Amino acid sequence: MSNKYHEIFDLTEGELVCGKCQVPLENGEVTLHYMGNDFPILMPKCPSCGQSLIPEELAVGKILEVERALEDK
Ligand SMILES: [Zn+2]
Repeated sequence: MSNKYHEIFDLTEGELVCGKCQVPLENGEVTLHYMGNDFPILMPKCPSCGQSLIPEELAVGKILEVERALEDK
């Protein structure tokens, strides 16, 4: 497990299929851009069309949760 990624959505490869392309999703790097920062995350995405499993807005929401938790300290 590497610390390279801000967030890792660790899901088994091959179990999820892109609804559009009907090909198995592969774990890949997706970089979210928020407030001028890049947040590299690892999540299953389609090798064909690049569609990630989790919508970017939802993933950004998760990052905001993490940042809020840090601010509370
Ligand atoms: Zn696809």
